[in-house]
Amino acid sequence: MNFELSQEQKILQRSVREFCARAIIPHAARWNEEARFPMEVIEPIAQLGLLGIHIPERYGGAGMGMLDLALAVEELSRADASLGLTVASHNLLCMDHIYLAGSEAQRERYLHRLASGRALGAWCLTEPGSGSDAGAARTRAVRREGPCGVEWVLSGSKSFITQGSVAEIYVVLASTTPARKQKGLTAFVVEKGTQGLRPGRLVEKMGLWASDTADIVLDDVVVPDAQRLGQVDQGFVDTARVLDRGRIGIGAWAVGIGRAAFEAARSYSQQRVQFGKPISEFQAIRTMLADMATELDAARLLVWRAAVMQDCGQRTTRESSVAKLYASQAAARACDAAVQIHGGYGYARDFPVERYLRDVKLAEIGEGTSEIQKLVIAREVLKGSRT
Ligand SMILES: Cc1cc2nc3c(=O)[nH]c(=O)nc-3n(C[C@H](O)[C@H](O)[C@H](O)COP(=O)(O)OP(=O)(O)OC[C@H]3O[C@@H](n4cnc5c(N)ncnc54)[C@H](O)[C@@H]3O)c2cc1C
Repeated sequence: MNFELSQEQKILQRSVREFCARAIIPHAARWNEEARFPMEVIEPIAQLGLLGIHIPERYGGAGMGMLDLALAVEELSRADASLGLTVASHNLLCMDHIYLAGSEAQRERYLHRLASGRALGAWCLTEPGSGSDAGAARTRAVRREGPCGVEWVLSGSKSFITQGSVAEIYVVLASTTPARKQKGLTAFVVEKGTQGLRPGRLVEKMGLWASDTADIVLDDVVVPDAQRLGQVDQGFVDTARVLDRGRIGIGAWAVGIGRAAFEAARSYSQQRVQFGKPISEFQAIRTMLADMATELDAARLLVWRAAVMQDCGQRTTRESSVAKLYASQAAARACDAAVQIHGGYGYARDFPVERYLRDVKLAEIGEGTSEIQKLVIAREVLKGSRT
C-alpha cells in the first residue's frame, strides 16, 4: 500500500489547482449570484484534459484513471462546487454510461465530442414520481418498425437533470418492459435538436446556483435502434456499474467542498481576534478544526481506496457507497463547522462558507441518498464476503 501520488498525479493536481486559482476562484461567487452556467470555461477545462480524463485516448479522453479523476474533481469543487458537479456528472454519468455500455460505433460517435467539450453531456434517470425507486419510471420507450429499420419512441419526463438545458448529448433511461420495473429499463442516447426533446423548467435550488439543473420533456421522441445503449432491459444493470464510479466522483466532490470550508475556517480563525487573541487559540475552535481535518482525511482516503480499486478493475459497489456516504456527511459537518467558526460573518453572504454549506447538501441526496447508500452497504456486508 503506497499513499504517495505519482509524479503525473502531482502535476495534474497542481495544474488544476493553478487553473482554478486563475480562472475559477475569482469568478465563482459572481457566477453563483448571477445563477449563470459559465459556458465560457468549458473549453479551457476541456483543453486541460478534464472532460474524459478517465476515457481512453483513442476516444479522445486523457487515458488516465479514476484516481486522477477524483483528484481533479476535488480541486475543481474546492474552487466552485457547481463546476465540479458539471465535470463529475459529464464524465462519470453521461460519458461513462456510453463508455461502459456503448458499442464501438457509439463510443466513436459520441465520446470524442464529449471529451473535446464541443458537447456537454447529461444523464437522465430521475423522474417526478421516481427518484430512489428507479423501477417506478414512467418514461416509456416503445419499439416499432420504421422506414429505415427498428426505432424507438420515447415519451415521458425527467427531473433534476444536471446540464439539462445546456447539454447536447443526453443519456435517457426509459422503461421498455414496465412490468419488470427496474429490470425493464433501457438506456438511449438522444441528441439535442431531436424532435420532441426539450428542456422543461429550470430548477431553483438551495445551492449550486451556477449548475444547470432542468427538467426534460420527451414528447414522442423517435431514435433509431443504433442509439440504444446496451441490451434491452439491461439499462439498470449498466446504471449500477455507472453509479459505482459516479459515487466515487460525488465523494471527491464533497471532499473538495469540505476542504474549501476547512481552509476558509482555518484562515479566519487565525485572523479573528476576540478576548484579545485569535480565536484559533481557543480550545473549542481547535477541536472543531481537528475534527474537520480528521474527517476530511478519512473521507479522502475512502474515496481514493474506491478509485484505486476501480483502476485495478475491481468491483466497488460497497466501497463506492461507503466513500460517498462518509464523504458527504463529513463534508457537510465541515461546512457547518466552518460557518460556526465564522460566527455571524459565516451567516453573511460576504464570506463563501454559507455557499459551501448550501452546496454540499446535494452530496447527501444526489446519485442515491444517504439512506439508499446504507441499504446498498447493508446488502453488500450481509453477503459476508468482506468485513
Ligand atoms: C441538484 C440536483 C442535481 C441532480 N442531478 C441529477 C441528474 O443529473 N440526473 C438524474 O437522473 N438525477 C439527478 N438528480 C436527482 C437525484 O438523484 C434524486 O433527487 C435522488 O436520487 C433522490 O430521489 P428523490 O429526490 O425522488 O427522493 P425520494 O426517492 O423521493 O426520497 C425521499 C426521501 O425518502 C428516502 N427514501 C426513499 N426510499 C427509501 C428507502 N427504500 N429506504 C429508506 N429511505 C428511503 C430518501 O432517502 C429521502 O430521504 C439531481 C438532484 C438534485 C437536487
